[in-house]
Amino acid sequence: MDLSEQIKSPVKANKNIYRFGGGRADGTAKMKNLLGGKGANLAEMAGLGIPVPPGFTITTEICTEFLNLGRLPDHIKNEVKSSVSEVEKIVGKSFASTVNPLLLSVRSGARASMPGMMDTILNLGLNASTVEALASATNNPRFAWDSYRRFVQMYANVVMGYSSSHLEIHLEDLKHLKGVELDSELSVDDLKTLVSKYLSDIAMNTAQKFPEDPWDQLWGAIEAVFKSWQTPRAKTYRKLHDIPDTWGTAVNVQAMVFGNMGETSATGVAFTRNPSTGEKALYGEFLINAQGEDVVAGLRTPNPLSGAVSHSMESQLPAAFQEFVDIANKLETHYRDMQDLEFTIENSRLWMLQTRTGKRTAQASLRIACELLDEGIISEKEALLRIDPGSLDQLLHPTLDPKATKKLLAKGLPASPGAASGPIVFTSESAEEYEIHHGKKPILVRVETSPEDIGGMVAAAGILTSRGGMTSHAAVVARGMGKCCVAGCSDILIDERQKTLIVKGHKFTEFDVITLDGSTGEVFMGSVQTVEPLLSEHFDRVMKMADGARRMSVRANADTPKDAKVARDFGASGIGLCRTEHMFFDPERIDVVRQMILSETTDERIEALEKLLPMQEADFYEIFKVMDGLPVTIRLLDPPLHEFLPQSEKEAMELAERLQVKPEVLRNKVQQLHEFNPMLGHRGCRLAVTFPEIYEMQVRAIARAAIRNVKEGRTLSPEIMIPLILSSKELQIIRELVDAQMTQEMNQSGVKFEYLVGTMIELPRAALVADKIAEFADFFSFGTNDLTQTTLGISRDDVGRFLNSYLEKGLFEKDPFSSIDQGGVGQLVEIGFKRGRQTKNQLKVGVCGEHGGDPASIAFFEKVGLDYVSCSPFRVPIARIAAARATLK
Ligand code: ADP
Ligand code: MG
Ligand code: MG
Repeated sequence: MDLSEQIKSPVKANKNIYRFGGGRADGTAKMKNLLGGKGANLAEMAGLGIPVPPGFTITTEICTEFLNLGRLPDHIKNEVKSSVSEVEKIVGKSFASTVNPLLLSVRSGARASMPGMMDTILNLGLNASTVEALASATNNPRFAWDSYRRFVQMYANVVMGYSSSHLEIHLEDLKHLKGVELDSELSVDDLKTLVSKYLSDIAMNTAQKFPEDPWDQLWGAIEAVFKSWQTPRAKTYRKLHDIPDTWGTAVNVQAMVFGNMGETSATGVAFTRNPSTGEKALYGEFLINAQGEDVVAGLRTPNPLSGAVSHSMESQLPAAFQEFVDIANKLETHYRDMQDLEFTIENSRLWMLQTRTGKRTAQASLRIACELLDEGIISEKEALLRIDPGSLDQLLHPTLDPKATKKLLAKGLPASPGAASGPIVFTSESAEEYEIHHGKKPILVRVETSPEDIGGMVAAAGILTSRGGMTSHAAVVARGMGKCCVAGCSDILIDERQKTLIVKGHKFTEFDVITLDGSTGEVFMGSVQTVEPLLSEHFDRVMKMADGARRMSVRANADTPKDAKVARDFGASGIGLCRTEHMFFDPERIDVVRQMILSETTDERIEALEKLLPMQEADFYEIFKVMDGLPVTIRLLDPPLHEFLPQSEKEAMELAERLQVKPEVLRNKVQQLHEFNPMLGHRGCRLAVTFPEIYEMQVRAIARAAIRNVKEGRTLSPEIMIPLILSSKELQIIRELVDAQMTQEMNQSGVKFEYLVGTMIELPRAALVADKIAEFADFFSFGTNDLTQTTLGISRDDVGRFLNSYLEKGLFEKDPFSSIDQGGVGQLVEIGFKRGRQTKNQLKVGVCGEHGGDPASIAFFEKVGLDYVSCSPFRVPIARIAAARATLK
């Protein structure tokens, strides 16, 4: 089980600062609430005797205190000072010393990992005199000045809010002037010039003075980390991931270790298993003579860790590599899950800087869960609880058709699987605008992405970058979002300002269409055909385990034989909602439907209905055939009739001509059917109260389709569902109508079959009088879409205008139309369920709104005790897992 799930909320901690390093630690991995994920795991590693640079963690409680107070309390400053002196003792250097200075890193770390959201400051403690001291103490002036250069840039950015891009211009200019490509090719004097350029630029362009005193630097850095909890990008991330704003972040202050000391120093990141496929193999990247973020920033393309190739870490630093492999294995076994690791090698000596549960694609999560189960590390229950049902969404969608003709433009890294076609945009803002204006998702093309791009990445269908590796920001974030991403595609030339992408002599401009395949890293010209996904053996296995564990059954909402087939293939155990009106919208039928609606007399209406009867019969016949052996719930006509009528004057004229009625007759009829509030108007069973012949025709079609199937040897159980019932009387008379038609059809054909008649519970009144309604119902199905509309008094079609404000102000925790409002609508579900069962203890009860495919809502329906959920065919596997997890929890 994920350690983070075991944490209970903390009582006030007895300490403000927890130390780690030198072979011991005050904290443990279980203390994530207080120490943040990073701090808790640093403590755990130190406690396990793994080499971790010593340091200490200032708790999340102090973050809250700081944010309330607006400054660091004095007692904290004193505690920090004494903790720094502990670190000094362990490493034998002293902070702010002009002989052998200790440098620190200041790192944020919240309870839940928020990659890239909070900024880290490295090499803190350098100034004009300590840099000289560092140079002579290490006998490595280049390294000292390289560190100083990095520090000034990071500190100016993170603490003083002076964007790195201003300073990077000086670096680029200097490299250009010297005719070199990499930072590492710059000389000591170059670096000295650069630092003084940086400092004078900062002095000139910010109203602040760059702090010389290392202690001032430290206070500034700690405060900046706490403040970074409140930045817009951190807030956005929290909103996207349901992380409460109240948690706060911890601050980790830690002795620096240096990967930039020369050819036997390096820095790297690794996963203990492949995060894309789940394959059990150490997977990572490193860079010689580099520091911290160089690997993820994608400035230099990193080298692989393992392998017999000459540039691998295995070949270049074999001893450190072996030690790292051992530690990686130890950590994976200890945490019982795939780990994401950060390390640095300083003069051949390995230091671990971070471990956490690794983010992975859905495909990888299935494979890893199965393999950890086979390795005896976790139980079947844990394996199921390890899988985030929502993430499976990315597997269930189409991939590129291998047979489609496509023109390959370039190949980058397969950073996050899936396929996407769309028009290209070059900035996050344009991605967001495009989505808003066109309701479709574009492809975001960037040289590399940064945390500022989150909004654009959310809006995009896929992401393409020309720089960066498998662990670059773009890759990590895209995998987290389940979005397709091709990273580090160096064959393409992107000009973000000109908004052009040049590849193989083709020049693409904004909105030109390309296709990405995140599973292979390929980029294609134009849009490419897709096919249904192929599911892995691990997928099947996890689904079988889920089916064994869950109590509720999972049905699908399917209106056509094609959807029914998809649903069955995805493991649906029946159809929970087959909407008959979609069949009416078929272009070949709509005119007959209109003729029926426009009828002035019952006879005319019956004549039109007679024409519709064989068409409906044919639909139901096919669906029953596909669903042989499984229940099919068919809902009789529900929408207001005017939805079927032509909307524009032009269409109305054409229709009048086709039906040979006078235009004004038609116009009058349309006007007559106009409703102020169609959602609350003449719809659902109310249609059958005024025009019983409509439902009579539908029931006959169902009966005849069933009879044909029975004659052909299939088993079936139709469930006829009446929408929008608000009283038992309504159901009583409609049930009589249904039974009469059924009996007549069975008698005429001499074929008998079982059927049920039930109702949707989608009005608050229906839930309240469910005990009465149950007298005439064989089953209930909560129509939670309408029930949400009618309980909240909010129209689903209009909620868009204010939903975001409600979410932002915390008035809604989630969109109530995607995740059920448990406190309100949920109560009605509970009441309806209980009262229904009071009358009939065998009453079958399910749910068929959008909520039937939402894991959080499914957990709620499990608690209530419903028999089944029904959701869209593509969400059936998600619901199967979610239902299993709900039972297990
Ligand atoms: P993030 O949460 O963004 O990964 P980290 O705090 O882990 O931020 O650090 C950013 C980078 O700095 C990482 O590459 C990390 O390995 C490196 N780093 C952090 N602390 C130290 C340290 N004490 N010595 C050397 N490198 C460090
Ligand atoms: Mg990190
Ligand atoms: Mg409804």
